[in-house]
Amino acid sequence: MDDFRPFERMALIGLGLIGSSLGWVARRETLAKEIVGCARTEATREKALELGFIDRASPDPAACVEGADLVILCVPLGVNAAIAAAMKGALAAAAIVTDVGSVKKAVIRDVAPHIPEGVHFVPGHPVAGTEHSGPEAGFAELFEGRWCILTPPPGTDEDAVKRLSAFWRAAGSTVEIMEAEHHDLVLAITSHLPHLIAYNIVGTAADLEEVTRQEVFKYAAGGFRDFTRIAASDPVMWRDIFMNNREAVLEMLGRFIEDLTALQRTIRWDDAEALEALFRRTREIRRGVVEARQA
Ligand code: NAP
Repeated sequence: MDDFRPFERMALIGLGLIGSSLGWVARRETLAKEIVGCARTEATREKALELGFIDRASPDPAACVEGADLVILCVPLGVNAAIAAAMKGALAAAAIVTDVGSVKKAVIRDVAPHIPEGVHFVPGHPVAGTEHSGPEAGFAELFEGRWCILTPPPGTDEDAVKRLSAFWRAAGSTVEIMEAEHHDLVLAITSHLPHLIAYNIVGTAADLEEVTRQEVFKYAAGGFRDFTRIAASDPVMWRDIFMNNREAVLEMLGRFIEDLTALQRTIRWDDAEALEALFRRTREIRRGVVEARQA
């Protein structure tokens, strides 16, 4: 196992689901000796202090990162560039700056230009989450048994990557290193497209005229309810994911629409055999997910 060394001061920029979960697990496993938190609203900062997963809070990213040897950006993707610009002058020499954003190429585009010489930027993405947000949504076990993907750009300091990997392992995750572009393509099909489909089907059901909204709620257990859970995910976070992973999502969406059209034809032509063959194949995929303990 790693010989993990706790960080002296961890700065969490953003105190929502992911920021608070990191705070809790850092407390439980002593991943950092001190935790400083930054959020724009006073209500969030007060709540985080009251719950106790941070030691100090500030609305100012620069004040928050002062003296920190680990800085983790846990804000919606669209905010990263402004935060990185605001904190750059205050970053400590040799600090590790990382993030948890669900898209990686865009984070590198937005944050890397603001990272001073001698500070190590190692982008990351814990593939773990729920449909809840805010400082009260977090819990220490969120990352347990989940993957954390790090996407260090070429030339990133290897010791920084090792130290951050050890941090995530101590938080319960399994770490994988990947190129940012590949990450964005993989997540487009495994996470972004499923969310888009859920948002779409729930929107369609809400707009139907022949079936009443009451009936949609009443019979939701027929499958619809699982989509409503996904479609309840944070609107700002998901807006930013689609705005920042356009190419990969559009590529996967193209494939999806093609396959859906083929499926439409299968039903129209009464091709029972083809339908059953597909459903048998997809049932196997579910087994694979269960066996990989990601169910
Ligand atoms: P969240 O619960 O909505 O929390 C977002 C935090 O960011 C809040 O503390 C919010 O502060 C702060 N924030 C928002 N806009 C800001 C601004 N303009 N300036 C400063 N702070 C701002 O979000 P989350 O679910 O933790 O997601 C955070 C990141 O994690 C996203 O980039 C997302 O892609 C990634 N991620 C999410 C999941 C998931 O399932 N949720 C999974 C993996 C990765 P206030 O409360 O003061 O507004």
